[in-house]
Amino acid sequence: MLRVLIRLYLLTIVTYSAAIYLIPKGIIEVFHTRYMSYNIEQSRGLQSLIVRQYHAVPVEHWSHVTEQLGRDFAPLKVQLLHRQDASYTPAEEQLLEQGKPVIRLGEWGWMEQISSPLNQQLAVKLTIPPDPLDMNLLYWTMNVLIGAALLACLLFWLRPHWRDLERLKTTAAQLGKGNLGERTQIPPSSNIGSLAAVFDTMASDIEHLLNQQRDLLNAVSHELRTPLTRLDFGLALALSDDLPAPNRERLQGLVAHIRELDELVLELLSYSRLQNPAHLPEQVEVVLDEFIDSILGSVDDELENPEIVIDVALDCAVERFTLDPRLTARALQNLLRNAMRYCEQRIQVGVKVCPKGCEIWVDDDGIGIPEDQRERIFEPFYRLDRSRDRATGGFGLGLAISRRALEAQGGTLRAQASPLGGARFRLWLPTV
Ligand code: ADP
Repeated sequence: MLRVLIRLYLLTIVTYSAAIYLIPKGIIEVFHTRYMSYNIEQSRGLQSLIVRQYHAVPVEHWSHVTEQLGRDFAPLKVQLLHRQDASYTPAEEQLLEQGKPVIRLGEWGWMEQISSPLNQQLAVKLTIPPDPLDMNLLYWTMNVLIGAALLACLLFWLRPHWRDLERLKTTAAQLGKGNLGERTQIPPSSNIGSLAAVFDTMASDIEHLLNQQRDLLNAVSHELRTPLTRLDFGLALALSDDLPAPNRERLQGLVAHIRELDELVLELLSYSRLQNPAHLPEQVEVVLDEFIDSILGSVDDELENPEIVIDVALDCAVERFTLDPRLTARALQNLLRNAMRYCEQRIQVGVKVCPKGCEIWVDDDGIGIPEDQRERIFEPFYRLDRSRDRATGGFGLGLAISRRALEAQGGTLRAQASPLGGARFRLWLPTV
């Protein structure tokens, strides 16, 4: 917004300066005759007084009269000139010939020189010198003060716009972060009131649509759970019967599919629950190293390859931190499970606490994530092409859930390249 103010101010000042220089010039040029006659009228008395001083004495004393007038009129300059030597234009010469005064205009259309004929050869010229330095300084001070007044006026005009636009920007940012209840609260009397009203209506529509979508997802997931449980139960009963081996195998395959479906439904329910704005995160102070240990312990038995080494690097000035243990553990478990799936041999978990918050990162030495996919992998159901064959399992919901779980606490989750060669997931939680 400061940039807008500076641009507007510079534009105004440049326009003002150009106008103040060019417009008077143009007007004087167009109305030159009127300016000349006006100045002649204004100086008529002065000229006739000067001319009378000369005519009152013989020509031999005119140089004394000039000296005397020069002293009286200082700093104005009085000169007695031979008309041929005074470089008058033919038009000016003609005027002098007719006994008329000749005027030359300076800045702003004010006279700079007035010449009056004394006889056929001589003329008296009165020159008005340029303004002295102090007067020039005063003139520039005036201009600077006018510039400052313009700036103050612009600031005064821009301030409410500035405030309202900042409000609009913050609301848009909040909506982007998922706080769908956020509105601009800009009054209709504001100059951007109608824009804000349209924005608020759009925000309400988006909130309504997303809520509808979340409720639908929730309802469908709930409805699916009951028949799935019945199917699972039914198949378990069928399996308890004495069955021929091929049939048993087929039924076991079906049970596996149903379990997978059930898992998906559970993931969907977690995801839609995290989208609920009414769900406020808990705030529990935990001992960080114990907390990380317990999470590692909860996923430890899923480690398929016993050769994988998991290191923990704690770099904490304070070892306690307030967070939502359930949401944070959920996010970290997903990250660790992914790291276990995609790493070659090494996983490293790092923790760093600073006064502003806590940073936790999970590194692995696996295939990593291409730079252009590092945002997309957080979208629900988004899986990279290479894992679409489901060899690595998962529905593409894990990272979306992790990010939501952290955002619900005001935190962030980003994917980066790891110094170990694979992927790094950097989790940030602010201090509450
Ligand atoms: P999924 O449950 O299918 O793994 P996620 O949301 O957890 O879904 O991950 C989305 C995609 O991100 C995965 O399909 C995988 O391709 C990629 N990904 C996640 N973690 C890693 C990792 N540590 N290294 C490489 N790719 C990863």
